[in-house]
Amino acid sequence: MEIKVLQKVLAANDRVADENRGMFDANKITVINLMSSPGSGKTTLLDKTIEALKGELKIAVIEGDIQTTMDAERLSRHDVPIVQINTAAIGGDCHLDAAMISSALHDLKIEGLDLIFVENVGNLVCPAEFEIGEHFKAVVISVTEGEDKPLKYPLMFQVCKWAVISKTDLLSVLDFDIEKLRVYMKQVNPKLEVFELSARSGAGFDAWLDHIREAVRAKKQG
Ligand code: MG
Ligand code: ZN
Repeated sequence: MEIKVLQKVLAANDRVADENRGMFDANKITVINLMSSPGSGKTTLLDKTIEALKGELKIAVIEGDIQTTMDAERLSRHDVPIVQINTAAIGGDCHLDAAMISSALHDLKIEGLDLIFVENVGNLVCPAEFEIGEHFKAVVISVTEGEDKPLKYPLMFQVCKWAVISKTDLLSVLDFDIEKLRVYMKQVNPKLEVFELSARSGAGFDAWLDHIREAVRAKKQG
């Protein structure tokens, strides 16, 4: 019984997600959904990414958080439009869904935008199940976490097109086995494109930025 109910919820969500995607496509906007555990560095990644790209692309951010506006405040220095979704106000959901994105779009002037980043709620489980109308799902995992995360949360790594291994500047002081992580990622999703980077040192950042530029360019032409 419960399974049927969940399927209904997800099917209804997918319809709204398709509407969102239709609106993004009509405006030739690329939408990237960033997901991770709490503390993996999504906001820091976004901060550096926006800093690097805001001169060449019109960017907006939709910030998901259960309770606070702290991440949105950190990003506000960039003067890009930011819409905050606090899920506590709507039942404390530990993920964003398509309806939340749809209502956030009422507060965002999307005409003229090139790129929207969605920072999902920090959680490796249910955000993977909810389409929001994005074009790219990216999971961020830091080298301060366990190498076995892809095996423990396979759905997240299966639904994502991109994976970012963050905080690589810390590798020299940790016993983290990055090769093991890569093997586990490929095991659950052979097609996953993996980026290794440090927002602090800037190492590996260019490949990440180029991928985003390419995605935006393809959407503009498509
Ligand atoms: Mg954050
Ligand atoms: Zn949830």
